[in-house]
Amino acid sequence: MGSNVERTLDRLYHGIGLAEGLDDLRNRVHRFAEDEVAPLVPSMEERALDVAGFPADLFHRMGELGLFRVPHAAADGGAGLANPSLAAALVVEELAYFSSSIAVVYVCQAVFSGGILKYASPELKKAYLPAMLSGEKIASGAITEPDAGSDVSPESITTAATPVRGGWSLTGRKRFIINAPVADLACVLCATEGALSMLVVDLKQDGVEVPPPDRKLGMHACLTSDIVFHDVFVPAGHLVGKPGKGLRIALGALTLGRIAAAATGVGVAEAAFDESVRWMKERRMFGKKLAEMQHWQFRLAERATQIAMARDLCYKAALRLDAGEEFPEPETSMAKYCGTQVAADMARDAVQVHGGYGFTSRLGADGSRCRVEQLYRDAKGPEIYEGSNEIMKWVIARRMFEG
Ligand SMILES: Cc1cc2nc3c(=O)[nH]c(=O)nc-3n(C[C@H](O)[C@H](O)[C@H](O)COP(=O)(O)OP(=O)(O)OC[C@H]3O[C@@H](n4cnc5c(N)ncnc54)[C@H](O)[C@@H]3O)c2cc1C
Repeated sequence: MGSNVERTLDRLYHGIGLAEGLDDLRNRVHRFAEDEVAPLVPSMEERALDVAGFPADLFHRMGELGLFRVPHAAADGGAGLANPSLAAALVVEELAYFSSSIAVVYVCQAVFSGGILKYASPELKKAYLPAMLSGEKIASGAITEPDAGSDVSPESITTAATPVRGGWSLTGRKRFIINAPVADLACVLCATEGALSMLVVDLKQDGVEVPPPDRKLGMHACLTSDIVFHDVFVPAGHLVGKPGKGLRIALGALTLGRIAAAATGVGVAEAAFDESVRWMKERRMFGKKLAEMQHWQFRLAERATQIAMARDLCYKAALRLDAGEEFPEPETSMAKYCGTQVAADMARDAVQVHGGYGFTSRLGADGSRCRVEQLYRDAKGPEIYEGSNEIMKWVIARRMFEG
């Protein structure tokens, strides 16, 4: 199951006003994901959550194919596209349709860590960005701490950099950091003299400790772990932007990060939707097909509408970002909340409509696979990361009730 499934939403959705050339990019990513990612998904997701489980070959293929360059300007070694944010959203949606693990690995590298580097000095960019965009170096973005997740205010962040000759000495612990077990570098939000700053830290040096990867509900091929810094030296030139601007830089990168989380949700929702349609056309009971039962017809009609709404919000937020708005709200928060929620809702429906098969990843009797069990598990994470959906609603509500 899961291969040669018709893309039903192609018949239900019209992407009005999408810039020329983006269809071609979408098709290229679709072919890569279908031909090279999809066949590896079962083995990737069933492997132990350890460093050897990181899909290094696919990561390097994304580098070779120029996918990490998509959100970046030509001056920074990027693809220099007219609509880089929308293009990145389309890449993420296509990857997530086949594997949300790979989509999230991509987002961490190209969108979030790469997005932070956009604020760096020309020298710092030159030192890291080309190697990140080619896939030679693996990057991570380290904001969350054991006691600072939703609240990353200066009062909560305890990782601190103190000035020393020629730079900083960094001490503290970060948590749930995507790619950390395999990363060469981390963009670290930390306190510097009472304010929050962003530092680029080489992880392959003394004083950096990376414990084993976390065991997670889903997205097993995307590794997360803590990163612990014990008096790690960071050169002065590794400060991104100005001291004290770290939170603004993180929020700047998180803007496209949240649009990408929305796109991840849309891709997962589309996959769960297509699996459900296919199953409903085949599965018979009480003398008819599931597809003839109005309860499920109406449920899928509702989900198709919600997925179209989430997709529109996602593309609209991306287009506003591409038009030069630094924080295109409320669409960014609406898209993140709506796209990730419809993924979780659609995946739960997909399990239900598949009955016992939906609860089973592989049938013991004949080894046949059903994909929706994994989609259900994978759909939960995006409701939590890149700012939980409660925080997204708070951002939307603030526009109603503040000022
Ligand atoms: C798979 C995955 C990957 C991740 N990758 C990264 C990464 O690469 N880098 C990184 O820095 N972090 C990463 N994170 C961390 C993620 O950003 C945090 O988990 C998230 O911000 C929530 O923080 P927390 O887990 O500490 O939960 P808490 O902040 O403790 O929140 C707990 C609950 O309280 C709710 N809540 C918080 N504030 C409010 C409020 N005002 N009103 C109502 N409810 C509220 C939250 O929505 C949540 O449901 C990742 C997390 C996951 C699950």
